[in-house]
Amino acid sequence: MKSARDIFFQHIAQTTPFALGIEVEKAEGSYLFGPNGEKYLDLVSGIGVSNLGHGHPHIKEAIHQQVDKHLHTMVYGEFIQDSPNKLAEKLVDLLPESLNCVYFVNSGAESIEGALKLAKRYTQRTEIIAFRGAYHGSTHGALSVSGNETKKRAFRPLLPDVRFLHFNEESELKQISKKTAAVIVETVQGDAGVRIPKPGYLKALKARCEEVGALLILDEIQSGMGRTGKLFAFEHFGIVPDILCTAKALGGGLPLGAFISDLKIMQSLTEKPMLGHITTFGGNPVSCAAALATLEVIEQESLLKKVEEKGQRFVELLQHPRIKEIRRIGLFFAFEFESEEEVAQIVEGCLKEGIITFWFLSNPNSFRIAPPLNIEDKDIDWACSVIRSQIEALD
Ligand code: PLP
Repeated sequence: MKSARDIFFQHIAQTTPFALGIEVEKAEGSYLFGPNGEKYLDLVSGIGVSNLGHGHPHIKEAIHQQVDKHLHTMVYGEFIQDSPNKLAEKLVDLLPESLNCVYFVNSGAESIEGALKLAKRYTQRTEIIAFRGAYHGSTHGALSVSGNETKKRAFRPLLPDVRFLHFNEESELKQISKKTAAVIVETVQGDAGVRIPKPGYLKALKARCEEVGALLILDEIQSGMGRTGKLFAFEHFGIVPDILCTAKALGGGLPLGAFISDLKIMQSLTEKPMLGHITTFGGNPVSCAAALATLEVIEQESLLKKVEEKGQRFVELLQHPRIKEIRRIGLFFAFEFESEEEVAQIVEGCLKEGIITFWFLSNPNSFRIAPPLNIEDKDIDWACSVIRSQIEALD
């Protein structure tokens, strides 16, 4: 009989030769449990998904209730269903007035695809401006606006008319012009290693977009849903996007994404020709029930208030001369070291001690943590002591 490991490595397509290969039997709160008594503290929340930890009882209850009512009933946009309706109403209540129309999709990449298409239809322009270091997903359109050249090269030709600027370089913003349909940017660049916008930068970017009539698409797929201490990261920077992309933590552990804009923009997908974006499972009722429960927990447990305090606790406990830089906003961290080898030693060493940290796609000298927003202080203290001892043990 084949072991779970054999099946995983032989019959599930592998995307890297270095899969962590942790066997998961159960997950609860900030912890994952294996079949042979293994226990891991999840400091990355399944890469920005389990922002309320694993298996929050309120989310599970909402899922069970929805499963008893109905699962998928029809492709996106035809039937009126309670759970996507309630979620859309809740989201637009929590967002600025101009973000009042939600298109539900399945994933982050699909929300990017939808947003790019929407911007092209609305402006009737073709140029997209994106940023070096960006990661927006792995489908053709999302890859076209992502920065990592080695990951893109083999898939060319990608979308035409895409230009890249340096993130945080205000002097380059004049390259956004009347030809530009949209500027797409992560509010905080995630896979580039938690790059936070300089004061005033996003305001200047938004002002330039307004000046030339380009739409601003903010990708909050990783930085949204409380990760930075605000429900969405743009709230820190005094701007409102024309289109907001969200996914990952939105679904509370089930697959769900959304792109959100003003109705007058969104309507351009409805006509000439109609069906400007089509999706079968977008807004799946069970995913939407989980998402609504997620937003309710964030509110009921006042989770956003504690994010900054917990973030600072990590920083205080993780001071060490071998760390070249800590980049942090809320509970979204990159720890920068001298070399890739040091990072590998720490990530692998932590894993042996039962702590999950992870690499970045486009920043080999840093490792990431993005723990559940409700991680307990005692778990923070233990995690930091393990990480510190791994740093002490560096060659
Ligand atoms: N945008 C950002 C900022 C992301 O971090 C990711 C995934 O890591 C995506 C888009 C793509 O999301 P998905 O993997 O759900 O397609």
